[in-house]
Amino acid sequence: MSGEGLTVRDLRVSFDGFTAVDGVDLDIGPGDLRFLIGPNGAGKTTLVDAVTGLVRASGSVRFAGQELLGRPVHRIARLGIGRTFQTATVFEELTVLQNLDIAAGAGRGPLTMLRRRGSVPEPVSRALETTGLTGLRDRPAGILAHGQKQWLEIGMLLVQDVRLLLLDEPVAGMSHEEREATGELLRRVAEDRTVVVIEHDMDFMRSYARSVSVLHAGKVLSEGTVAEVQADAKVQEVYLGR
Ligand code: ADP
Repeated sequence: MSGEGLTVRDLRVSFDGFTAVDGVDLDIGPGDLRFLIGPNGAGKTTLVDAVTGLVRASGSVRFAGQELLGRPVHRIARLGIGRTFQTATVFEELTVLQNLDIAAGAGRGPLTMLRRRGSVPEPVSRALETTGLTGLRDRPAGILAHGQKQWLEIGMLLVQDVRLLLLDEPVAGMSHEEREATGELLRRVAEDRTVVVIEHDMDFMRSYARSVSVLHAGKVLSEGTVAEVQADAKVQEVYLGR
């Protein structure tokens, strides 16, 4: 549906003369659920680091009509770009609701914390619903299962009105049921936002990707639907070593 797309042109990132991202072009349309796959060291994390402002890069990265390269991390975040890492970072002693409240109030001053007891702001109750955490809202985040913490972290991006979510291996360490629930959650999120997922779990990718970019040695090796990249001889070579 709606949302804003991400356009990457000739992106390059080098570390001491080693080129980790080597001229990447990407067009990730609004509402896409794009999977970035590729062997270890392909440059997936560095690419996401460049988009979020964590590493210096050359080329162009545009989101919602704005150039991101050269902006500091917090200004990129303010444009509605958010990220999760493999290990969820939630406030363990606070409840699920309090975690979402804090995320919703981020950058908006302490007054948001003083709302009437019992009244849950609309974006927060929507995030609880989307992530399936409504029944756990008053439990401390520390007691959540691994999968539930990941969902809470995604919920914390949703309440900040993040329009582009970059997720690093969101189903790593999850049970089969948790993986399916995560896939369904990502589908719901991608209805009106853009989602980019770094993933190693090929079964998960096949089930939930709307489009796939295969990275290899810092370049885009192949791109398209799951069926298209699976049929690509170059991809088979990289993954099967033929
Ligand atoms: P992927 O996420 O696809 O596994 P990365 O983006 O983590 O790949 O890494 C791409 C390449 O860049 C690897 O060879 C890695 O060793 C190198 N690299 C990543 N970060 C740094 C860094 N901070 N300094 C030096 N080399 C790095």
